[in-house]
Amino acid sequence: MELNSKKLERTSKIVFFSISVILSIFLILLTDNIMSDIDSVTTSPMPTDFENASLIDNYNKDIARSDDSIRILSIKMERLTKTIETVVMRREAEKESFDNWLSTRNTIGSPTNDVEVLARARKVDELLKVEQEWQSQLAVLEDSVSQIAKYRDVNYIKIDEERQRANELYFVALRKYDLKVFLIRLLIVTPILLIGIFFFLRFRRSKYWPLFQGYIIFSLYAFFFGLVPYLPSYGGYVRYSVGIILSLFAGYYAINSIRKYLEMKKKELEISSQERARNVQTEVAEKSLHNHICPSCGKDFILKTWESPSDGGKPIPVVTVYCRYCGLELFSNCDACGHKNFLHLPYCSNCGHTTKK
Ligand SMILES: [Zn+2]
Ligand SMILES: [Zn+2]
Repeated sequence: MELNSKKLERTSKIVFFSISVILSIFLILLTDNIMSDIDSVTTSPMPTDFENASLIDNYNKDIARSDDSIRILSIKMERLTKTIETVVMRREAEKESFDNWLSTRNTIGSPTNDVEVLARARKVDELLKVEQEWQSQLAVLEDSVSQIAKYRDVNYIKIDEERQRANELYFVALRKYDLKVFLIRLLIVTPILLIGIFFFLRFRRSKYWPLFQGYIIFSLYAFFFGLVPYLPSYGGYVRYSVGIILSLFAGYYAINSIRKYLEMKKKELEISSQERARNVQTEVAEKSLHNHICPSCGKDFILKTWESPSDGGKPIPVVTVYCRYCGLELFSNCDACGHKNFLHLPYCSNCGHTTKK
């Protein structure tokens, strides 16, 4: 098998990262299970928990009774309306026939003192009286329907009032419940997060870092998905405050670590170039050579064409033997064969002799 160190490095990075992700996924699944078990123990309050059920039931029964009465009365009213319509039709027919009869009588003789005229007029009057009686009965029925409907509406209002009272209690209980859920989650997530932070600060250079990284991913998930959505809002005060505190912590940490790194680099440049040359690791040297930069200060060591004037047919040097910025020796001739080598890789590229002095 061909040993390609670049490929190997990339592959091992992928493998390590996969280990981290897989570990974090299983930790997340386990914790999700625990959390959902806890959630199922504490039940969320319902608005109906606070209603006086028997009271509402009584109101509803009253409403049903009213509806029944209204239905019965409506049937009666319908029948009565039909009867009235029949009476009206009969009266109108009678009246028309009487009018016709009267007009024919008019041409023949005097209508006064005529017994038949009186009898016919009385009949129309009687029908009118009957109609009026039915009408007044209908009015009575209509009146009682509106009375019952009013009574029914009062019951509806009472139910609304009872529900409103229950709702107020429900919202108080819901807030308490939310707080309880949050506190339980806080109790679980806080140690998870603290351990994650501890791992991040302590074990970044450990050879088991991928495992620690898996745990850290999990602890971040636990914090952002297991706790943050359950933060009691109080109109956004709590959430925004937590955001500000987190940004301050992250900012503090980032500023400090960048500063520390810069100071370390500065100190590194203060020690002798021999010392620094010994400290350059092969991995760093490989990257530096690939990017033609000094492994200590990170500046370019390739000369531009205008920096190296041609020297009477001799080959133009394209790299500087020493770093122009920090003085670190970069290239030297092999002790065994005299070939010019990048000093920070372990062996001569021409004869394999060690380059370390
Ligand atoms: Zn340098
Ligand atoms: Zn050599």
